[in-house]
Amino acid sequence: MMALYLTQMSRNTKTFNEVTDFIRGLYQTKDFIPLHAPLFRGNEKKYLNECIDSTFVSSVGKFVGEAEKRFAEIVGADYAVAVVNGTSALHLALRVAGVKAGDEVITQPLTFVATCNAIRYLNANPVFVDVSLRTLGLSAESLKDFLESSTIVKDGRLYNKTSGKRIAACMPMHTFGHPLELDEIKELCDHYNLTLVEDAAEAVGSHYKGKHVGQHGKVSAFSFNGNKVVTSGGGGMIVTNDEELAKYAKHLSTVAKVAHPYEFYHDELAYNYRMPNINAALLLGQLEELESFLVNKRELSQKYQAYFNKLEEIEFFQEPENCISNFWLNVVLLENREIRDEFLKITNDQGVMTRPAWNLMHNLPEFRNSIVHSDTHSKWLFDRLVNIPSSVIQ
Ligand SMILES: *Cc1c(COP(=O)(O)O)cnc(C)c1O
Repeated sequence: MMALYLTQMSRNTKTFNEVTDFIRGLYQTKDFIPLHAPLFRGNEKKYLNECIDSTFVSSVGKFVGEAEKRFAEIVGADYAVAVVNGTSALHLALRVAGVKAGDEVITQPLTFVATCNAIRYLNANPVFVDVSLRTLGLSAESLKDFLESSTIVKDGRLYNKTSGKRIAACMPMHTFGHPLELDEIKELCDHYNLTLVEDAAEAVGSHYKGKHVGQHGKVSAFSFNGNKVVTSGGGGMIVTNDEELAKYAKHLSTVAKVAHPYEFYHDELAYNYRMPNINAALLLGQLEELESFLVNKRELSQKYQAYFNKLEEIEFFQEPENCISNFWLNVVLLENREIRDEFLKITNDQGVMTRPAWNLMHNLPEFRNSIVHSDTHSKWLFDRLVNIPSSVIQ
């Protein structure tokens, strides 16, 4: 038994070393290979210089409006509001969607902590419903089961039978850029009078049935952090087709100041979340590169797919049916937790950055007491999933 186990381990070691070499071959470098590095090869410097020369680097300047317009066009939505990061975009998206203190928001256990932090910033609470093994995002089937078994409609509002709390919204996340089962999720949300807020932080450039994600619900949030497909240093965008919501999000992001030539009047408690002009300048340059980044990243994912298809020990995660993923972070699945850990150790020891999935949200102190409807797939994925280097290849 021991001998067999060792043979298995050494066979994996050999394969994982070969994988490391393969990735080095793709990136043509002996240096450290990060998971996702930004690339500036377009008008970024030009716009940044314009910004500095004009002195408008902060809360006033033309680049914010230009980046918002450009982003709305890319997504195919009517309005985009630029904010300081993806987390603040989620916070305001939930706020304008009507989430109030004491409410519950349905989301997935397998996500980045920002999704759930945004819910808690409003003194609301997450309810965890499992992800799909086909999309890595919220499962429509699990959502249906939760809604049928655990909720009740009173006076047109949805309540959780277990906690008695109102369920105000459903905020699924497009994991690693792979689109959610949006038709099914939207149909359920509509049926139960549940506001759909997409956490599209990772999904710039991803399409579901020919439509860019982030416009299927009432409002959505994107991130332009340095590790995302395009970056503004730090930044985020709230996207909606609802003019009132867009105006309100903008108002809340600019300390709720009522427009006036010189007077300061703020009509409610709000935030300083507006994206500075200098970040917007960088973002505009990056958005011009988005198409070419997406083509490059798709080619990379196809190379990975062809390579991993030949390996028995490692499965490459493919984009869901009828979807175009941005392949933000490529995903491989290992046989079990031990083998995953061996893969992580070998690759990272050799300077090829790989990462496991995030710890499931209800394993974090802040969300330990949250309601968990289902997490079987999330646990299964956590044990096996690894992200591998996915930067645009120069
Ligand atoms: C990146 C990310 C965010 C937002 O992150 P910021 O760093 O605040 O821009 C939110 N949700 C998910 C799922 C993310 O991956």
